[in-house]
Amino acid sequence: MSAKTILYVEDNEVNRRLVRDLLKRTTYRLLGAPDRETGMAMARREHPDLILMDVQLPKVSGIEATRTLRGEVATAATPIIAITSFALGGDEQKARAAGATAYLAKPYSPRQLLEMIRRLLPEDEGAGG
Ligand code: MN
Repeated sequence: MSAKTILYVEDNEVNRRLVRDLLKRTTYRLLGAPDRETGMAMARREHPDLILMDVQLPKVSGIEATRTLRGEVATAATPIIAITSFALGGDEQKARAAGATAYLAKPYSPRQLLEMIRRLLPEDEGAGG
């Protein structure tokens, strides 16, 4: 059995590293992509079990990327958590309208993010199998 895989689409490398550190002590496997195109290619190849989507992506926003992923067979039903840097009015509504399953606005604690991930994608218990 392979580890449950999380794809994190985020252009900011520091944020990607923070989440990688957060998930280090879990059984999740983390993939990182800096933009929509890379994220889509990874999603088609790796079939992630959950997607973390930064809303503020360059060129194509995370809202648009979420909509695109919802149209892909590989990710049509995959839980997507949209993450935004600020709780601007309308962001959550736009993310949900695009197909996001859940929404998290900064500032949030790493614990909050991990709880949300575990709620949508229960962690494997123990290794092996
Ligand atoms: Mn960003």
